[in-house]
Amino acid sequence: MIKEDISREKSAELYEKARQYFPGGVNSPVRAFKSVFGTPLFIRKGDGCYLWDADGNQFIDFCCSWGPLILGHNHPSVRESVVQAIQNGMSFGAPTMLENQLAELILTHNKLVEKIRFVSSGTEAVMSAIRLARGYTGRDKILKFEGCYHGHADSLLVKAGSGLVTLGETSSAGIPAAFANETIVAPLNDREAVQEAFHTFSGQIAAVIIEGIPANNGLLIQDKDYIDFLREITSANGTLLIFDEVITGFRLGFEGAAAYYDIRPDILTYGKIIGGGMPVGMYGASAAIMSSISPEGPVYQAGTLSGNPVAMAAGLAQLSELLQPGFYDELNRKTAGFTGSIQSFLTERGYPCKLYVIGSIFWIAFSELEIKKAGDIDPASMERFRVLHRELLNRGVYFGPSGYEVGFISAAHTPAVLETAKQAIFDSFDVVFS
Ligand code: PLP
Repeated sequence: MIKEDISREKSAELYEKARQYFPGGVNSPVRAFKSVFGTPLFIRKGDGCYLWDADGNQFIDFCCSWGPLILGHNHPSVRESVVQAIQNGMSFGAPTMLENQLAELILTHNKLVEKIRFVSSGTEAVMSAIRLARGYTGRDKILKFEGCYHGHADSLLVKAGSGLVTLGETSSAGIPAAFANETIVAPLNDREAVQEAFHTFSGQIAAVIIEGIPANNGLLIQDKDYIDFLREITSANGTLLIFDEVITGFRLGFEGAAAYYDIRPDILTYGKIIGGGMPVGMYGASAAIMSSISPEGPVYQAGTLSGNPVAMAAGLAQLSELLQPGFYDELNRKTAGFTGSIQSFLTERGYPCKLYVIGSIFWIAFSELEIKKAGDIDPASMERFRVLHRELLNRGVYFGPSGYEVGFISAAHTPAVLETAKQAIFDSFDVVFS
């Protein structure tokens, strides 16, 4: 049964004001709710797996700030660590012990990187990794995949033109064609396209970059064979393989998607979870590759707030929790149970949907066909997501406001809460397909 819309008066008022201050009323585009009904909810507070908006509506949150909040909102140990750090000052622009501590924690438990550099966002991590790959190899071109998002750096806001493998076309105004000309775009799950790129641009490709698990355009889980193929073809051509683990890093386990595929990329990028909700990114590689970074080497990269002590404190507290025995097993088991029963419900009802799940990440596709690359997603199916999103909000469940985005489960989502959410999801699907 369709439920009455929740009250959004205060959010609507705040949005009207925000539109006077910010383009589209937001500081990051997807927040504008453009592909779902209504205007953005302004969030007042988060605690555990719950969010409250400005009108006092309460939601079970499956967006989790787009992934960083693997422990949920306002986790006591993260909060306490941040409060303690703040008491000593917020930023020094000089090294601190907290950077060493977070680095030591990471490097002890993530053997894929030998040296790291902290930055302030995922975009910065990827942008720096690309510069590092270019500086290290002395080559200019990079190859990315259609449907992978790597932040908003110029070289990466590039989409495929027509043809199997193409030099990119910019996907944003303001990017010189000359930049896009250095980015080759190939479809995912397609060996031929990658082989063709290496043939056409022989000796010119500095790096192939792929999301650990592509999770920004649906959840496009690639076969291990394909990832192994990328590892082999890059090694054979003196090209670096960059795994962008901004979503998957510390989410699929401490060593992310690389460990899932049992593969050793050359450069890895991280963000989101590493900062416990504070702005942190990181890139890392072997000591030999990282020695190209300034001040040790010729590749320049810097940041006033890089390694910020408050952010380091949040990251230290969050990552320490993830190292507790059984943390990931428990989280993944919970996710499998939750998503498994939603899939059973959809199948029983004959609703043509399929859930894609890995670790504690899930995505609902409005199609039963196998989806492995961006082109497999039918844009028309997003109309169904719009209805689902509205019905979920009306029943107290918050998903990210786009059907292309994945959902996340946190340690704070208890079995009882997931039961409640499931019922709301079932009822919402009944409306979508009524
Ligand atoms: N890389 C991936 C895989 C991402 O999912 C994102 C953001 O969602 C980024 C890079 C950019 O990170 P940020 O938004 O922190 O700049």
